[in-house]
Amino acid sequence: IERRSRRSGGKPISVSFEFFPPKTAEMEATLWNSITRLAPLAPKFVSVTYGAGGSTRERTHATVERIVKETRLAPAAHLTCVSATKAEVDEVVRGYWDAGVRHIVALRGDPPGGVGHHYEPHAEGYRTTAELVAGIRRIANFEVSVSAYPEKHPESPGFDTDLDILAAKVDAGATRAITQCFFDNDLYFDYLDKVRARGIDVPVVPGILPVSNFKQAKNFSEKTGTYMPDWLAARFEGLDNDPETRKLIAAAVAAEQVFDLVDRGVTEFHFYTLNRADLVYAICHLLGIRPPQEAGQASGQAAA
Ligand code: FAD
Repeated sequence: IERRSRRSGGKPISVSFEFFPPKTAEMEATLWNSITRLAPLAPKFVSVTYGAGGSTRERTHATVERIVKETRLAPAAHLTCVSATKAEVDEVVRGYWDAGVRHIVALRGDPPGGVGHHYEPHAEGYRTTAELVAGIRRIANFEVSVSAYPEKHPESPGFDTDLDILAAKVDAGATRAITQCFFDNDLYFDYLDKVRARGIDVPVVPGILPVSNFKQAKNFSEKTGTYMPDWLAARFEGLDNDPETRKLIAAAVAAEQVFDLVDRGVTEFHFYTLNRADLVYAICHLLGIRPPQEAGQASGQAAA
């Protein structure tokens, strides 16, 4: 699909979408409606998260497997080191390979007690994400993506530690970093400068969270240490009981964020969809990303 926006100076824009495994039949229907809606946009890959402490092991696997069987999308399965032996993790990895999965998003995971608790590796498990990445690459020739934190990881003593850890993950075989969501683009570019200065040259793909529920996003940002600018709060002020307007504002805010990133040279985006298609679909449309039948018309005309 041709998807070049005037803003990106004709450079192709690519996207990936993140979903979480559904808990109920109703949530499963919502997820599959979203996947069906977003699939024609031909994302580079779609990723499926792994619940805290491996709690969604079966559900993540089932969702990924259904994507392999029922779509032409390239799935990326998230996998963490938490509460599992190396043998258990390796079994999951082999299962993915056998099911036709070729991409894993490798993570350490949060401590079982939740963010803020001390992380203790499993006695017989992978102790760090870099070890997990190396383990995955030993098993088979997977593409491996890892996390990156423009505002530092909440446990981090400083950027130097974070950058050492990112470098170790890349040295172990990761070929892409996907960032935690952020709302202030300057923080992303400052971080990117630090990453490049450290000699890390893999793509650092911005993770975009279109905010439609401001309260929820604020909660999340407090937990993850993500800076929530005052102007963002102001945009949603007074709209707590007005979901319709909130949605329109959410689209405008997210469009503003991705357009600024495109203007500053970014051509790859990872969207945290929260299993909803509408906002992400609209933003992709603005970026010039269209289903095949419209792609010809869209090229070169989008993002005016
Ligand atoms: P790493 O990148 O390995 O480390 C994160 C930070 O922790 C480091 O930068 C450093 O500050 C500190 N740290 C780690 N190891 C050491 C060490 N040995 N010494 C000193 N400091 C250390 N969680 C899930 O449970 N399931 C998911 O599917 C999931 N998907 C995610 C996807 C993305 C794109 C992102 C950004 C996060 C995701 N998370 C997920 C959250 C993630 O598991 C947590 O943030 C977790 O606390 C850290 O895991 P990580 O792989 O990012 O850790």
